[in-house]
Amino acid sequence: MKMNENTTRGLVIKCSDYGESDKIVTFISRDLGKIRGIAKGARRSLKRFGGCLEQFSLVDMVVRPRDGLSLLLEGKVIRNYKKIKADIDKIFYGTYLLDLTNSLVGDGHDDNMKDIFHLLLSALETLEECEYDEGCLREYEVRILSKVGYMPSFLNCISCGKEVEPYRNRISTMDMNIGFSSSKGGVFCELCEKRVDDRLEFISFGTLKTLEAATHKKVSFTRHALLESGKIIPPFISHRLGKRLKSLDFLERVKGI
Ligand SMILES: [Zn+2]
Repeated sequence: MKMNENTTRGLVIKCSDYGESDKIVTFISRDLGKIRGIAKGARRSLKRFGGCLEQFSLVDMVVRPRDGLSLLLEGKVIRNYKKIKADIDKIFYGTYLLDLTNSLVGDGHDDNMKDIFHLLLSALETLEECEYDEGCLREYEVRILSKVGYMPSFLNCISCGKEVEPYRNRISTMDMNIGFSSSKGGVFCELCEKRVDDRLEFISFGTLKTLEAATHKKVSFTRHALLESGKIIPPFISHRLGKRLKSLDFLERVKGI
């Protein structure tokens, strides 16, 4: 290996043809962060890259890092997620996972990148080997949000910082729910809630606790918690990204979630 060349393990998250014979590939690497690179002549010669330039592949890649587009010199497949690629539901889930990760994670490297690589790796392993469901998806969303520093405030009022509790001065149980603002990125306590002019979704305390816990441990979502989480997490992400991901639309249409 020459100077300025690194071998790193990574997960391919996006891949497109470029010009006559090249490919442009984005991957989340374990050691070098998020890399966008060009694989010259990749479509003519399969020898240097084998099947490693497609989504849902764990690869070892030899890279010459550069600002902008890095050069991808050769690579080999370490794990090919065959069960994902063979199952249309898994493809929809997986495409959203990759798309979300690509949209939230900036180019280059920072201290959290190794964690993000392992988080995505473990999500793809689960998708490959297990029944995947909406709960797994919500868990991935809150974990990646917390890794990139966009974690919503589920249990503390984003206006005054106070720990929230079910609104007590209300009449019905439904009314005890706590107001969450997707645009502000968190909940409001009963007092501050009165002064908010944002659109709020009213969510039960139990669901908020589940979402908070999901950032660091395996939780099981009740049907009710899934229903409520679906009302706040995707809108919050869309707000952060400034757009709604098409892969989420597809997933919702196919899975009805
Ligand atoms: Zn408050």
